[in-house]
Amino acid sequence: MSAKILSGETVAEAVRARVRTDVEALNARGVTVGLATILVGDDPASHSYVRYKHKDADAVGMVSIDVKLDGNVTQAEVFAAVDDLNARPDVSGMIVQLPLPSHLDGEAAVERVLPTKDADGLHPFNLGRLILDRPAPLPATPSGIMTILDHYGIKVAGLTAVVVGRSFLVARPMAIMLGAKGVDATVIQAHSRTPDLAAVCRQADLLITAVGRARMFDASFVKPGAIVIDVGTNRTDDELVGDVAFDEVVEVAGAITPVPGGVGPMTRASLLTNTVGLAEAAAL
Ligand code: NDP
Repeated sequence: MSAKILSGETVAEAVRARVRTDVEALNARGVTVGLATILVGDDPASHSYVRYKHKDADAVGMVSIDVKLDGNVTQAEVFAAVDDLNARPDVSGMIVQLPLPSHLDGEAAVERVLPTKDADGLHPFNLGRLILDRPAPLPATPSGIMTILDHYGIKVAGLTAVVVGRSFLVARPMAIMLGAKGVDATVIQAHSRTPDLAAVCRQADLLITAVGRARMFDASFVKPGAIVIDVGTNRTDDELVGDVAFDEVVEVAGAITPVPGGVGPMTRASLLTNTVGLAEAAAL
């Protein structure tokens, strides 16, 4: 039997509708809601991601501010661009599009963003608050995954979740969120040094793959009926594919996110949620 398809496009549209209403309410109180991006260099994938972020911001009625810097800029010039946006009252949230060119320190640039303007939820201060279970803008990709699960009524409590990957961008905060009190999954964090990864993954009621290897997770990694969330975005010659071998796993899993159209749109939707939340907090 084929798995239920968990459509990030559908859920993202619902999120955008909610954010649009919130933006209108803030505008009615005289509060501008603005999302700014800083993009350094000419990486085509990064340009495409940033274009979509502005399209989304426009769609929900946010002001969008697009800062593009030459690939040869210095770290000081990146900091100056961040400082400028930190100081602008029309910028509620901002994103430094990663990765930066290799001569620059992307994590330092993210840390330069005021935690109160951290649309990506990746500032160390906000990651610290996540660990402490205190309110904070949440890392966009794991937050988007929680929203998909919630939208489809998938109860995580009591499930064994295997998160494959341990990046600060996706997999570590994902594991923290799933294991939080009130969410109550039992979490296994796997990575490239995990022995017999397929056997570990087969324990999962909820399998989340954030690796970056095209179609690595075939049916032998999946417990029948499991919920499979595919974060991977891998560009092959002619298409965008996930970490999961969708065509065979869809026959084994109980539910699955497609690539494209699964986690990607939800990551962008979470940026909007964070930005409007930051605008609300700033207007208190
Ligand atoms: P990283 O490269 O930072 O992390 C990859 C992780 O995968 C590492 O922890 C690594 O383990 C692990 N890994 C690599 N090879 C294997 C293997 N053979 N077996 C088990 N684990 C392995 O990537 P990100 O977390 O930033 O991104 C992961 C994927 O998600 C990428 O394809 C990226 O493009 C995509 N992505 C998609 C988003 C979306 O919105 N859809 C958003 C962000 C990312 P180790 O630590 O041991 O090296």
